[in-house]
Amino acid sequence: MALLYRSTRGSSSNAIPASEAILKGLSPDGGLYVPTEIPKIDFNLAELTTFSYQELAFRILKLFYTDFSEIELRNCIEKAYGSNFDISTIAPLSFHDNTGYLELFHGPTIAFKDIALQLLPHLMTVAAKKNNSQKDIVILTATSGDTGKAAMEGFADVDGTKIIVFYPQNGVSFIQEQQMLTQKGKNTFVFAVDGNFDIAQTNVKKLLNDPELASELSSHGYQFSSANSINIGRLFPQVVYYFYAYAQMIQQKRISTGTAINFSVPTGNFGNILAGYYAKKMGLPINKLLCASNKNNVLTDFFNEGVYDKNRPFYVTSSPSMDILVSSNLERLLFYINNESSKDTLQLMTQLNEKGKYIISEEIRTSLNDFFAAYADENQTAAEIFRIYNLDGTVIDPHTAVASYVAKLYSEEQADSTPTIVVSTASPYKFPQSVLIGLHDSSAFEPGFPALQALKKISNLAFPNAITQLLNTKYIRTKKIISPVEMKKNVKNLLMK
Ligand SMILES: *Cc1c(COP(=O)(O)O)cnc(C)c1O
Repeated sequence: MALLYRSTRGSSSNAIPASEAILKGLSPDGGLYVPTEIPKIDFNLAELTTFSYQELAFRILKLFYTDFSEIELRNCIEKAYGSNFDISTIAPLSFHDNTGYLELFHGPTIAFKDIALQLLPHLMTVAAKKNNSQKDIVILTATSGDTGKAAMEGFADVDGTKIIVFYPQNGVSFIQEQQMLTQKGKNTFVFAVDGNFDIAQTNVKKLLNDPELASELSSHGYQFSSANSINIGRLFPQVVYYFYAYAQMIQQKRISTGTAINFSVPTGNFGNILAGYYAKKMGLPINKLLCASNKNNVLTDFFNEGVYDKNRPFYVTSSPSMDILVSSNLERLLFYINNESSKDTLQLMTQLNEKGKYIISEEIRTSLNDFFAAYADENQTAAEIFRIYNLDGTVIDPHTAVASYVAKLYSEEQADSTPTIVVSTASPYKFPQSVLIGLHDSSAFEPGFPALQALKKISNLAFPNAITQLLNTKYIRTKKIISPVEMKKNVKNLLMK
């Protein structure tokens, strides 16, 4: 049966097929695409343990991308999840302190964004063919650090595509910046923006929705799309690992089939945790989704008080990929808790746009009980890295530490002994300085690469490919810093000179 996609801000009578929604990224009315119905899994949970990651990806994604043929989907999946990951299981589950850690950092850029962004370019090129698009696709992306690199890596030298990345000039880690500046591929471009992530993201959304720019580009043979987590081509590949984690829980005899579990998810743009929400609606036994934030705790307040207010200080933290005050994918959750009313969703989004704030009613707030929300400040994050290290010598990254802290807080505060999985989103090698601070190591304050060696010594963990390559590469771009108002001009210069 064909599944169509509609805008969170528009009528369901304008619904379009998945391939078209993947190409467009964002709906022209500014809303996000959602399926007209959330599909239910068509296999038994007991079967889960017999699926490879790739087979499971196929089983899940065919329910969402119904206008892709079986061969097309399987081809995309095969290209996405192969030797580019440094472990054949793609998303292994390990245990520390009796808590599961779902390791999503074994891809080429050592952050969980790879899971979706190794697949998206293939989905997009198939989608372009399906829609008889003659134009080259230009991906515009704002990044809080990890998306930019993962998207450039995914799209590098993919025919018929170009990718332009904007990152906050002082908002990413040293390693994240080095990874972006050493990216190869003639079709990849990157700018540092003098502003924070929200400014970069807001401006990218404006460019994507600028009709004049779109028609100018079109006459030069280009069309825009987005690789941010607002794209359904990124969102649904993330549903797969929730099921895969569950399969491993059964396999490792931690639970029996049917037992409900919790996931603690380090959250920024709300894409990862929203995928968990979809997994639950599809039939995965999830008790609570723990929404873990850092000091930028706008989501904690939203879940606990029903008030979303972005008018607050913006902090640069040790978990930069979560330094976000406008959480894009929350719009999809608002749509669902408002009984799929695009009118109500639009109203809230308009308030956010005009006042930077909205309040949901007490009645609507009760439908948020799939979630628990809390945050870890900088000291708590560092202390959690230390706690896990002292437990069994494992070193976790600051994003994972935030979720790990919240998982522990939740089980103590709520006296809930439901098995919990911490979604582990990055390798500690991506944030060596912050990790070393947590471990009270004096080399934490040496800038640049020495921190990597220090961390290697402490953790006994071999460098992943991404780090070896970074240390060996001779190619480095000059950093281009632009102001937010110059973003449009630079896009035009790149594409239409
Ligand atoms: C992007 C990112 C997050 C936040 O994920 P969202 O889907 O934006 O909520 C958390 N941790 C890491 C390492 C990331 O790269």
